[in-house]
Amino acid sequence: MANLDKDDLSQMNRSYFQSLSQDKLVEVADNLHQLATELWEKQQQNSENSSQPPSKDNPYDSQTTTEQSEEIEESESSCGQTDSEKVEQSRVKEKKKKSKRKRGKQPGGKGFGRSQPLKAEVIIPHYPDLCAACNQDLRENNAQRYMGYYVLELEPQLFGFKIVTQLHHYYQTTCSCGHCTHAKPGTGLVSVVEGRSKDLQLTEYVLVGSFLATFIASLSVRYRMSRSKIREFLKDWTNTELSIGTIDRCIRETGIACVPVVEELVEQLQEADILHLDETHWYESGKLHWLWVAVSTKTAVFHIGSRRKEELSHLVTEAFLGWLISDGYAVYRSHPKRQRCLAHLIRKARRFADPAGSL
Ligand SMILES: [Zn+2]
Repeated sequence: MANLDKDDLSQMNRSYFQSLSQDKLVEVADNLHQLATELWEKQQQNSENSSQPPSKDNPYDSQTTTEQSEEIEESESSCGQTDSEKVEQSRVKEKKKKSKRKRGKQPGGKGFGRSQPLKAEVIIPHYPDLCAACNQDLRENNAQRYMGYYVLELEPQLFGFKIVTQLHHYYQTTCSCGHCTHAKPGTGLVSVVEGRSKDLQLTEYVLVGSFLATFIASLSVRYRMSRSKIREFLKDWTNTELSIGTIDRCIRETGIACVPVVEELVEQLQEADILHLDETHWYESGKLHWLWVAVSTKTAVFHIGSRRKEELSHLVTEAFLGWLISDGYAVYRSHPKRQRCLAHLIRKARRFADPAGSL
């Protein structure tokens, strides 16, 4: 299927359409129809029928004012909390009020510059296969290079690994219909996080290749290394200099790339005979969220969200027919086969038996 973008569309006009044969015109019209359908469906999306956050909704469609939203959030988040949790939350809020400093590099701060120019060890060409307008095979046509960029990539060796510098060259080809098609770096999922200034999209047009990015994410998540320690490690052991911002982006990109894996794990959860569920409070940038976990004998999936019942659908769907074992939180009670968690019951029994806590 053609993937028409701004550049492709800018080449199309009335005289281009008039120059096409009947068959080519049908192909081009079909591609444009697919694009129009995709755009229309995207326009209809909002936070109620997709994974978009409420901030992406049209503000003029909203029935709730900001103050009302805050009140709702306030009352929901304080529901079920102990006094110590409330004190902790107000302490975090107070701290947030005092500091207006954003995380990461500050405006006007010293930037990161590469001390050594990159030198390509391998050149990887990318050619367009099909005409974006009429779908004709372009592999036999002459192509011209129009852009290139460097990628640092990790290459596994028989023992150990090395980091190589790749130079990716992208080519453009003109079809017999007159349309010029450009090969372009691939793109993937977009991560939309409320409050973040820029959405993060997976793309091949980056300095760090997917294998090296995964390695960096592994150093962070599996081996618990800080961003600055990872930077030091890569410089000392691989002679590769990366900024803290680039390392941070690699970790986040790998997280987005794992979304299909999480979906697969959630599907596995639904097949379990017994599922254990629990939730606890979780702060991110001083804001209170809830960390949910669903555990079967083979799979564990964590989910961060609000404490509302709807969050449960990210972990347990209608397909789950087994036993749900949880504490007494009301949102679990609608499941027909539910058992109270024994550890919670024992803790409760001890409290009744010995309210002073001497047991
Ligand atoms: Zn063409």
